[in-house]
Amino acid sequence: MTTKKHLLELSKEELANYIKEISQPAFRANQVHDWIFKKKVNSFDEMKNIPKELREKIAKKFTLRSLVSSKHLTSKDGLTEKWLFCNQQEQGIESVLIKEQERKTVCVSCGLGCPLNCTFCASAKGEYLGDLSPAEMVEQVIEIEKITNERVSNVVFMGTGEPFLNYDNVLSAARIMNSPEGLGIGARHITISTSGVITGIERFSAEPEDFRLAISLHAANQKAREKVIPSAKKWKLNRLISAIRRYSRTTRREVTFEYILIDGFNAHQNDANELYELIKGIPCKINCIPYNPVKSDNTLGWKAPEPDICNAFTGIIRDKGIRVTLRQEKGADISAACGQLRAYKNIQGK
Ligand code: SF4
Repeated sequence: MTTKKHLLELSKEELANYIKEISQPAFRANQVHDWIFKKKVNSFDEMKNIPKELREKIAKKFTLRSLVSSKHLTSKDGLTEKWLFCNQQEQGIESVLIKEQERKTVCVSCGLGCPLNCTFCASAKGEYLGDLSPAEMVEQVIEIEKITNERVSNVVFMGTGEPFLNYDNVLSAARIMNSPEGLGIGARHITISTSGVITGIERFSAEPEDFRLAISLHAANQKAREKVIPSAKKWKLNRLISAIRRYSRTTRREVTFEYILIDGFNAHQNDANELYELIKGIPCKINCIPYNPVKSDNTLGWKAPEPDICNAFTGIIRDKGIRVTLRQEKGADISAACGQLRAYKNIQGK
């Protein structure tokens, strides 16, 4: 296993210092930086204007790429693409690209599996093997931009892994993505989604960047929430909502609540009223997503409610003055929900 530092994790200033340290002219730092972030090369050999000797010297000390694409799927409508990347230990990392007219969003993973075992989530079905490094997260976006030749406008940390259990690496990755010298993606277009890790929300409130916060809520009372998110036993709903209210007051930013609609579980009109009572007064929007069964393991027998039930649910919330969307299921035919491709890979053993 390599112990080399990854070039993506070096600031432009740190790269310039290194170039100075090895007695090279300062302009070489700009050239190398351009090859990494603008031309997005996959190998040192492609850095054509850098002398071979210098390329070899840098390669001995730094890593340039740690992911390779091992599987790629495109949904029937062509609007959702999914990649399974492999890191240097040949562990699977999934990323999804969602193409809309006005934006191209990459859903990034931050973990090799996830220790939190949310009931509805395919990521929880495989073994949790650890956290991803900042470079492994940034590379998911760089690789997708390179492969598709499309500029990524938005990033959501909503793939495999709980971002606030890998806080420092996720924030470092978000900063590299946001930096004008990195990927130049606006902070407001980078969203970090948590299943409710309260300590992470508290730290996030104090970050200077305008990154956005999303909360996987999925139920409006403690008992039901524990069924979908077992870690809610530790991070209780009443404390979570208090933390979100403090976050809103401190940052004056809107929060997004994600709410998976599950038939007969949390999609009744009473649930909509309970949800409204829970979050009223928080500047927010709610994304409702009809449940997408985990193909590899549907022993729960859960299913999405019929469209009229989904519409009645969102209608109640909307009538109370809260912005709510009923997200179209995107890429269900390619298992686009969190962790599904990875889980499938593990089951298939390939
Ligand atoms: S939903 Fe998120 S936090 Fe929960 S198991 Fe899946 S990846 Fe982990």
